Amino acid sequence: RQNEKESLYIVLNFAKDFFQKQLTDGAEGRSIALPYFRERGLSDTTIEKFQLGYSPSDWSVFSDHAVQKGYTPQILESAGLSIKREGKDSLFDRFRERVIFPIHNISGKVIAFGGRILKTDKKAAKYINSPETAVYHKSDVLYGIHQARNAIRQADLCYLVEGYTDVLSLHQGGIENVVASSGTSLTIEQIRLINRFTPNITILYDGDAAGVKAALRGIDLVLEEGLNVSIVTFPDNDDPDSYMRKVGSAKFIEHIQQATQDFITFKTEALLADAGDDPFKKAELITDIVHSIAKIPDAIKRQVFFARVAERMKIEEQTLITEGNKLLRQQT
Ligand code: ATP
Ligand code: MN
Ligand code: MN
Ligand code: MN
Repeated sequence: RQNEKESLYIVLNFAKDFFQKQLTDGAEGRSIALPYFRERGLSDTTIEKFQLGYSPSDWSVFSDHAVQKGYTPQILESAGLSIKREGKDSLFDRFRERVIFPIHNISGKVIAFGGRILKTDKKAAKYINSPETAVYHKSDVLYGIHQARNAIRQADLCYLVEGYTDVLSLHQGGIENVVASSGTSLTIEQIRLINRFTPNITILYDGDAAGVKAALRGIDLVLEEGLNVSIVTFPDNDDPDSYMRKVGSAKFIEHIQQATQDFITFKTEALLADAGDDPFKKAELITDIVHSIAKIPDAIKRQVFFARVAERMKIEEQTLITEGNKLLRQQT
């Protein structure tokens, strides 16, 4: 068991080296993948720091090379790197013609890869990821945690973004306390991982409807775990990466400072925008927010938030507390 894991770390590290070398020295890497990263504004330093790479377009360059170096087809398959051709013994590569984002565990070992297609006009999925393996459990992992851990502890704050490139752009802009949930909706395990370094999370999700929806879901989960959560929104069609590239680091930091909302304000505004003048929808909204507050384990914090909603919604604080207490009794 432990032995299998060790072998997986070794072959995953071998693959990481291979993809890196393909990016800097390979023909396709130099002619299409490096220019792709350049166009996205990523520097050599960022590329090296995150060990970015490229997987060539041939069907089995990586698998053939690995087998030739003595790795068994079996270990290549269980690492999620190679796939067996149907009815044959030969292998082909899972990642082909994609830029590669190695995913590291907290101590910096490579445990999986994400691969992005270079041109999104193709029919294939924009991103593919390693499958679940003995060392990669998607729901336990945060992209960038190894590179961010010290900065998170130092700032006593963790920024949470959606994607790989958001993490990279923020790092490059000098914001290093950032991790991505990378395509899974946020999980309890991911929140607990952050909580090893700080109880304070600020969500920086994409400025589209999906981003708002994911943030609303994330809020309740973070509250349930007893952590503190704030939200920064971005203009529609921008994500943290595109916004950073658009406005630059100084303006980005300024935006974070003036646009950070506590979760109540964010949730109230998001739901109010949806409810319009409909009194029934407004009532539903209040119930919804009371539900969120009731999830907070700390009674004093609950009190503070009830007061804030009462003021914002112009209703009696006592009404909220009574409703909240009903929910709390149901929970226990
Ligand atoms: P880019 O800027 O390169 O277009 P992004 O990070 O902004 O990428 P989003 O569409 O916002 O991409 O998705 C956020 C994250 O969700 C991605 O970084 C990736 O981890 C994951 N993801 C997106 N599309 C897919 C997909 N088709 N399959 C698996 N994961 C995906
Ligand atoms: Mn998105
Ligand atoms: Mn993006
Ligand atoms: Mn995005």
